[in-house]
Amino acid sequence: RSWAESTIPQPILAVIDTIGYKEPSPIQRQAIPIGLQNRDIIGIAETGSGKTAAFVIPMLAFISSLPLFTDENRHLGPYALILAPTRELAQQIESEARKFASPLGYRCVSIVGGRAVEEQQFNLREGAEIIIATPGRLKDVLERHVLVLSQCRYIVMDEADRMVHLGFEADLNFILDKLPSEAMVGEDQGEAMDIDSDTMVKKGRTRVTTLFSATMPPAVERLAKKYLKRPAIITI
Ligand code: AMP
Repeated sequence: RSWAESTIPQPILAVIDTIGYKEPSPIQRQAIPIGLQNRDIIGIAETGSGKTAAFVIPMLAFISSLPLFTDENRHLGPYALILAPTRELAQQIESEARKFASPLGYRCVSIVGGRAVEEQQFNLREGAEIIIATPGRLKDVLERHVLVLSQCRYIVMDEADRMVHLGFEADLNFILDKLPSEAMVGEDQGEAMDIDSDTMVKKGRTRVTTLFSATMPPAVERLAKKYLKRPAIITI
């Protein structure tokens, strides 16, 4: 029930301790163990429930377990992408994600409207493991070929219902179609994926997609059907 009893890797537990979150919130209790198995998740949850940490913690565990993530090829990122409906929410997520990511040496860059593209381009040149973006501006940046997401393997769509409501469904399709698709690599190539194994990354799960939404309108169902594989559904 406590953090220490979870399967969160030790370096991340140390960060949680430093941040001072005494115990996991209900959504964290449910979502983190499943997320750590690299399963796709549909989370029905509201803001304020602690859902940011619920997806950021498994995301960081995933990044740190990637076989390609070594000191020499840090520049091959970004490895994870968080999509959010508004600049305000993206920035809120960025500040929460940074609390966990920075002490581990992972860099977060946000790509949102309302700020100069040049400034964001500059931030990207410095390198980033994690991108937090609004769909409209990210599509724009991808079309300018300023950013390549070919190594982006952990995708979170936060407040998917609001993104769809704001007319971002086409942009989301554009972005998600540019990401690496699920495929097996390594010795298990071509074999059925064992979703219960904690060694899935080593066995080669190459893309994890998570979707959070307060409601599930048809457009969100469509996104989930198209981009998530055998998702676990979590409701709090
Ligand atoms: P969120 O729902 O992700 O926007 O989080 C809401 C607020 O709860 C944020 O300010 C977090 O810093 C805080 N928070 C998240 N998880 C915990 C936790 N386990 N213990 C204490 N505070 C938390």
